[in-house]
Amino acid sequence: MPKKDTIKRARGFSEPFRITDGSKFRLKDIDPGETLGLGSEDKPRAKGALANGVEALADLQDMLYAQDRWAVLLIFQAMDAAGKDGTIKHVMSGVNPQGCQVYSFKSPSSEELDHDFLWRCMKYVPERGRIGIFNRSYYEETLVVRVHSEFLSRQTLPPELVTKDIWKERFQDIRSFERYLTRNGVVIRKFFLHVSKGEQKRRFLERLENPEKNWKFSANDIKERAFWDDYMVAYEDMIRHTASPEAPWYVVPADNKWFTRIAVAAAVIETLEALNLRYPKVSEEKLKELAAAKQALVGGKEKSSAGKIAAHTPA
Ligand code: ATP
Ligand code: MG
Repeated sequence: MPKKDTIKRARGFSEPFRITDGSKFRLKDIDPGETLGLGSEDKPRAKGALANGVEALADLQDMLYAQDRWAVLLIFQAMDAAGKDGTIKHVMSGVNPQGCQVYSFKSPSSEELDHDFLWRCMKYVPERGRIGIFNRSYYEETLVVRVHSEFLSRQTLPPELVTKDIWKERFQDIRSFERYLTRNGVVIRKFFLHVSKGEQKRRFLERLENPEKNWKFSANDIKERAFWDDYMVAYEDMIRHTASPEAPWYVVPADNKWFTRIAVAAAVIETLEALNLRYPKVSEEKLKELAAAKQALVGGKEKSSAGKIAAHTPA
């Protein structure tokens, strides 16, 4: 499919899930099983569309890298087994690994706990020309840390700073941080992979029953599942307070992995496309240099240093 068509179709898959103003956002308005009318019989076509998307994305990323002006930060948040890892793997499968950086944020170390909450993430903001992926992020500071107050206690903040406003203040700080990054040429897109509780159960059972998936199972995942309702409140509040035109959230239906991947790929394609990327234009001087180099190669006038270094004879 021509690239133009792929880009046009991408918009149709990403726009319905993009939140740029969270004030009226409600999680229950987005169905985790949504497929925009596509059924399982459309899966093969969907796979083809994803392959086209991955190709378009690779071309765009090549220009992003060559141009070396913008950086792109993609943030992934989700409940366990929603498919973060698989989505990152499939969507980025065509991208040159040199132009891409992935960081997975786990429970913080004691060194990290001794700093402000953005510190550990700031170090991994992507360089210009790169796509950086955060697999979990500073948003955990308004999710797991909010659901389990013991995580907040471990941060040993001065007690007078820990008030009932702390989450509102964190949202404010995150918004300011994201505005700051945006003003520095870092384009931010955030994805919440929205899986249903029933589908999570099905995937956990698959991890328990399929020997090849056993390694993915963690007893802690079941413990966290018990806090499902608290997490949903925290996610909704997070999206309401941190969706912005410059750093939108995409609330992507995640009960069907094939659909999640298409929707995320579409959002990334649309984002890169909007940057109007071009390969850098070569200067007149550089063009002359290229012509001279070509002439030397073709015309047999290459310089040679032959004879300056004598090889050692093996003992
Ligand atoms: P997967 O399970 O697919 O390997 P994952 O992202 O769930 O991926 P885990 O190692 O299972 O990785 O979990 C990381 C854990 O670290 C999560 O439970 C997450 O909530 C927790 N975590 C991340 N950031 C923080 C934070 N700032 N404070 C406390 N816990 C955090
Ligand atoms: Mg996990």
